[in-house]
Amino acid sequence: MKFRLMGITDLSTVDWPGGLAAIVFFQGCNLCCPWCQNVDGIDPRGGKVAEVEDTIEHLKGLKPMIDSIVITGGEPLLQPEACLEILKTANGLGLKCAIETNATDSQALRRLLPHLDLVAIDVKAPLSDPKFYEKITGSVGVPRLVQKIKESLQLAIDSRAEVEVRTTVVPTLNDDEKIVAQLVDDIKDADCLRFQQFRNQHTLDPSFQRLPSPSREKLLKLAHGVKRKGLKNVKIFTVEGGLETV
Ligand code: SF4
Repeated sequence: MKFRLMGITDLSTVDWPGGLAAIVFFQGCNLCCPWCQNVDGIDPRGGKVAEVEDTIEHLKGLKPMIDSIVITGGEPLLQPEACLEILKTANGLGLKCAIETNATDSQALRRLLPHLDLVAIDVKAPLSDPKFYEKITGSVGVPRLVQKIKESLQLAIDSRAEVEVRTTVVPTLNDDEKIVAQLVDDIKDADCLRFQQFRNQHTLDPSFQRLPSPSREKLLKLAHGVKRKGLKNVKIFTVEGGLETV
């Protein structure tokens, strides 16, 4: 089976807490977040055509070193058959499996969930505000966008997998405490919320390169506010401090 691959990182020490992971980057995304820093991964015609079987053989060769795999993108759910084959093989090898996803295809995620130990879902803005969500993802007019993310979130919460919501904090868009509080109301049944730092080096909309990246202190302030609202497991990820539990 052929699929569009952006690339593979053979060994990562930062993508699975306490573990050694291989990362499979699927090519292509269905959203156009103007602040996206993974610009090369968006075009579904980019990357290269790869055989799933070759990728599986490659991962088998890494098995002595790794204890987990992460499938990410782009957006991996756009190629569910390839995801499924890779995850099934990883399960058979005894590797832990994670997906990082924008969660806009709940039916595809439903098929993958039995094979996943960790589901990292991007929630970029309050799910109770579909218009704002369209704006922050550059995806105006995407039908039922927010509804599908809500469905994905609930499916993941109801599964055996751990669910980590990830929110990239982008200045001028979602770095306001009231917006974050609204977002938390929508995701409070997830196991964990991680704030990530927008970086301004390489963005889809070049005007975002003029915005400063939010500081570690800014993310800490938002995280402490969220903890006061009752969310117990909150993390931040910054260039300055790496992954920190708040
Ligand atoms: S940030 Fe947005 S456009 Fe970029 S890969 Fe993620 S969902 Fe796609």
